[in-house]
Order: sequence, then structure tokens, then C-alpha cells
Amino acid sequence: MDKNSVQQALAGVPHPVAGTGLVAAGAVAKVAYCDGYASVRLNGGGLNAAQRKSVENAARAAVLRAAGPETLREVHIEVTEDAPDAPLPEPKAAAPTGALPGAPSTSGPVQARHIIAVGAGKGGVGKSSIAVNLAIGLARKGHAVGLMDGDIYGPSLPTMLGLGAIDAAVRGRMIEPFLVHNLKAMTIGALVDPDKPLVWRGPMAHGAFKQLVEQTNWGELDYLIIDLPPGTGDVALTMAQMLKLTGAVVVCTPQKVAQDDAIRAAKMFQQLGIEVLGVVENMSWFVGDDGKEYDIFGRGGAQRMAQRLGVPFLGAVPITMALRENSDSGNPTANFIDPSPAGRRLAAHLETMVTSIENQASLAAVRQGHARPTLTIS
Ligand code: ADP
Repeated sequence: MDKNSVQQALAGVPHPVAGTGLVAAGAVAKVAYCDGYASVRLNGGGLNAAQRKSVENAARAAVLRAAGPETLREVHIEVTEDAPDAPLPEPKAAAPTGALPGAPSTSGPVQARHIIAVGAGKGGVGKSSIAVNLAIGLARKGHAVGLMDGDIYGPSLPTMLGLGAIDAAVRGRMIEPFLVHNLKAMTIGALVDPDKPLVWRGPMAHGAFKQLVEQTNWGELDYLIIDLPPGTGDVALTMAQMLKLTGAVVVCTPQKVAQDDAIRAAKMFQQLGIEVLGVVENMSWFVGDDGKEYDIFGRGGAQRMAQRLGVPFLGAVPITMALRENSDSGNPTANFIDPSPAGRRLAAHLETMVTSIENQASLAAVRQGHARPTLTIS
């Protein structure tokens, strides 16, 4: 059983008014399937209560018939009264800039023009910080952006985005993403007890990641940014199986040991068939109170590593006290608007990084055939 077989079963259920199947009538708003749980949202606009009930029953029966009761643990059917999905407020403010025009790439359960994973060879190099700032920077350019905390072993987004006191809203079997900092964000950290260690065996990690992707009501996005767990492993494999990614960004600090791990992470992405969009060097240097720049870890190491790997260098982010403070206080937007000299410098580096990634994603999409540049002759 999978999402497609649920959809096929629904196609055979007659719509009481349209006279066609539910799919042809455009009444199927959402289908999700995960580990024996099927969840369907139908648009019952134009139907009276009795017709909605009968469609619900017929849809449930059709899904159960298609699956056989032994494979399904639960079928959830929701029939909404109004026209499709009342759209969630989109964080989109203006037409996307810098991206080439092209059809949205439907990547299984997620409708996003670009899906970008942010990975690192080891923990503590600032992978989550880069993922958060990338997402915020893209949203500031007018893109509709989702940010998913795929780091299910050590989710950082609740703190970094200030989600501490916000409860997740569940509609049917779908979870509403958190609308914060002009993003749609989802993290397992907001769904579980923050004091319990998250110990996942391989199949559980697979299931948790899958549910976050499939059962979050992402809506249509320009970018979905996925913060991966550090290192190499199950989650990256699950992601590669589930989603068609535009590519991955590898975050690295300049030291040699960090580079060795980052090279392994880059090779893992390549083995999984995921294009490496490039390398970001985080914690490149530190600006002291005296205004001098100190190359604590040896600036430029990640740039040389990118050259060795033959992938683009996407920018450098200096060690900045405000970035750490803004992450701890859940206010990463401040990284882009701090008027102090150090703040302005940080914002400029972050914006350069965001633009490089935006450009590399557009190029990768063209290479992969998702987007076509158009030529207008007048
Ligand atoms: P990872 O996801 O790789 O484990 P995090 O993004 O959680 O790393 O960063 C680890 C810590 O380092 C956090 O406290 C974060 O605020 C801080 N940090 C990351 N990048 C920077 C930077 N450029 N300047 C200052 N602090 C940073």
C-alpha cells in the first residue's frame, strides 16, 4: 500500500454531483500514507451533509478494499465543507527573484520548487544555524519557504526559532507547520517531550522523518530546507528515497579535521544521487572588540576543500556573538537587521550565502530538467 494506491482507490469512488470519480471531480484535496496509516482530505464543497457522509463512507470502504484490512492500521477521512484547503497564509511577499521560471517539481508528498538539504560531517559546526539563516534569508527575498528539522536525534529548531511555548496544531492526521519568522517550520522537537532523549532505531528514524515530511501541511513552497542530522546515515537515505532533491549544502568549519568529515558527507550525498550544491564555511573568522579579524580555525580551509571536491564555494560566515545570542533567544531574523557594524557585516555574509545557494539551486534545477529558462523574443 502506498499513497498512489490510496489515490487510485479514491478515483473509483463516484462524486455525488459531478458524476465522475472523486479524483476527476477535483474533490481529493490531500492524500497521505505512512506505515499503515492512510489520511485523506476531501473537498465537500457543494455537497449537503448527507452527501458528505456518504462520500466519506464510500471513500473509507474503497481504501480498505484496496489495501486489505491487514495492511492498514487506520484510515482517516475528512470531508471539508468548503472549497479546497483554506490556504494557509503564505509567507510569500513578492515574486521570486533570482530563480529561473519553471514548473514546480512535485516531489512525492511535498510540493516545492526546490528541496535543499543542509548537512555536515559532524555536529557543532553550525549546520542548523546555517539552515535556519538560509531559510530566513530566502523568505526575506519573497520566497515561500518551509524549514524542516530533519535532525530527529537532536532537534535545534524549537530553540532557534523560539517555538518553546507554541503547541503544534493537528487537523485530522495532518500537522500544521509553525508560522514563525515568515516561514513554515516543523520539528519533531515540538511534538515530543523536550527532556526525553530521542533514541531512534533505524526503522523508527525512517518513520519519524517520513511522518514529518508527509504529515505536515506544507502547502506549496518555493523552497523546503531540510536540516539533516550530522554525519552519514539512515535519515539521509530515507530522504533520498522519498524526495527528489534539488541538492545538498555541506556546512564545514575551516579546520582540517572538520574538512575530512565534510568530504565524507559530500561523498555520501553523491552516492545517494543527490547533487552537492556547494560548501559553506562557518565560523570562518572572529571579529574582536578591536575590530580586528582573527582566523581562529584557519580561514579558507572549506574553500580549498570545495575546490578539491570540484563543487562551488557558497560563502563564509564569521563567528559572531550576536548570531549565537539570536539563536539562543529564538530570534534569528535579528541576524539580518542588526544595525551595529558587526551585525551589518554578518548580514552581508549571510545574504551572499543565500544568493549563492539560490543561484546554485536554479542551475541545478535546470541541469536536472525541473526548470527551463525561457527566451522571449519581441
Ligand atoms: P550543528 O547544527 O552543526 O550541531 P549549531 O547550528 O547547533 O550546530 O551550532 C552550534 C552552536 O554554535 C550554537 O550555539 C550556535 O548558536 C553557535 N554558532 C553556530 N555558528 C555560529 C557563528 N557563525 N557564530 C557564532 N556562533 C555560532
